[in-house]
Amino acid sequence: QYQGLARRSTNEVLQLYSAHGQQQKLQRSSVVTQLHGQIKKRLKQDLKSLHSFALELLKDFQHQSKTYLYQILTAVQGIQLQNEAMQIFQIKAFDLEQSLEEVTERYEKEKQKRRALHNSLVELRGNIRVHCRIRPLLPFDAAAGHSLSQDRQSFSEKVAYAADDETVLVKCSRPGHASINKTFQFERVYNASESQDTVFADVAPLLTSLLDGYNVCIMAYGQTGSGKTYTMLGPQLEENFPYAIEDESELGIIPRATQEVFRLLSEKPLGSYWVEVSIVEVYNNEIFDLLAKDSCGKVFGIKRDVVTTREGKSDVPLLTYETVENASEFLHLVNRGLQLRVSHPTLVHAHSSRSHLVVTLTITTIVSGDNFGTSWEDEQASHRLSKEVSCIFPQKMRDNSSTSSSRASSPVQLEAAEKMKQVKTRLQLVDLAGSECVGMSGVTGAALRETSFINRSLSALADVLGAIAEQRAHVPYRNSKLTHLLQDSIGGDAKLLVMLCISPGQKYLTESMQSLGFGTRARQVQRGQGKKKNFPVPSKTK
Ligand code: ADP
Ligand code: MG
Repeated sequence: QYQGLARRSTNEVLQLYSAHGQQQKLQRSSVVTQLHGQIKKRLKQDLKSLHSFALELLKDFQHQSKTYLYQILTAVQGIQLQNEAMQIFQIKAFDLEQSLEEVTERYEKEKQKRRALHNSLVELRGNIRVHCRIRPLLPFDAAAGHSLSQDRQSFSEKVAYAADDETVLVKCSRPGHASINKTFQFERVYNASESQDTVFADVAPLLTSLLDGYNVCIMAYGQTGSGKTYTMLGPQLEENFPYAIEDESELGIIPRATQEVFRLLSEKPLGSYWVEVSIVEVYNNEIFDLLAKDSCGKVFGIKRDVVTTREGKSDVPLLTYETVENASEFLHLVNRGLQLRVSHPTLVHAHSSRSHLVVTLTITTIVSGDNFGTSWEDEQASHRLSKEVSCIFPQKMRDNSSTSSSRASSPVQLEAAEKMKQVKTRLQLVDLAGSECVGMSGVTGAALRETSFINRSLSALADVLGAIAEQRAHVPYRNSKLTHLLQDSIGGDAKLLVMLCISPGQKYLTESMQSLGFGTRARQVQRGQGKKKNFPVPSKTK
């Protein structure tokens, strides 16, 4: 603005000068005075406006710089606050980290305490527990061979109930028969609507014991069709139906237990354990290796024998063990074994219920000699485990007596090998042959042979449990291949769970009573003086 004004004044002055030039001659003196006056006036005006303009500009500038300064100050303050907050956060994160460490440490201690408590609890409950599962009435219960509709109706009538979760009630009155009204007590009784999940939830604690160094055996006892295979493996939709880990909700104890074992093992350092599987069938008092292969690699059910080692343990020389790394691989093997169980010519028997299926998981844990008995487990467990130590590394990576067809051995650091010790524990899962054969009469030929073998093995099992119950010095494990094979998982301080399976229909009353009687006798087994809670002997009639 000022420049414009100045320029204009100059122009005007120039114009005035030129006008002045023209009129010079005429009015020289008067014009000069006039002109000077005008110029002076004009310049004064312009200076004034210039001055006010500069003042305004200054004011503006001051105002703006104030605003900016204020903004800068606010921003700096904000950054300072953020910095402080960051420091507080860092301190908090550090504190949290520390407390997490403390909690982890405490958790480890609690875990060890819990484990010790768990084992004492299991011991209090006794090393043998009996659970009883009553399956639902099924369409085929009504079907079998009775022409009279009234007969059929009464035959399919329900006579076995779960009165509560520890009591089975058998109630039946038939014309011409004495009426029955009996209760049986067990550690746990499942009614028809209880799921595979629920059943397994009670089994899972035993697996904790397994990893603490106890051998464990879980066996299903009951007549054909009572739900043994369903409980142990899962529903068999077709003859060759493969079990898959994906159909989780219906899977039975065997796959679930394996999954749980792998879950528990995953908490241990990698490479400090491995799991081997063997699958055998005991048929007509002979042991068949369902994982054995012939020289061409074809699967071939080879006959094996069971022996007692110098250490007094039962062992099956040349038995095939396969290493598995997860539950899926395990189920794959089981399916392979089961397929053979149905198809192999030397194992001709109409129904899988005529043989005992024994699936064994051997868990080998490597324990460092330095830690052994101090930090590895709680004192109790390490004491137990030290009894089980089987050999020193690396001269014998595995039991020489077993033909291990497994993959290359687990990744063990061989330098430290001399200090390493192997601890083996065994989980045996058994689907017993149908117990209906006990006391059966009027059969001939192959069926009679089968029947008498099943009879003998199941009564040998009862004898063994009886001998243990009476704490007899001699337990007749060797009276049958079945008991000999299971010796280490039912004797000593091993934990045995008998899962009695019961068909609820009246048609099966005799067999059900027989099974319940077997379970009741097994339950009275007491071992390790004072360790087992003294349950009152269940009264026969209530
Ligand atoms: P077992 O092995 O004792 O001979 P299964 O396990 O083969 O008996 O069972 C016989 C039938 O009953 C099968 O069709 C099975 O699916 C069914 N079953 C057994 N237990 C149950 C149960 N708890 N719920 C539903 N179905 C069952
Ligand atoms: Mg079966």
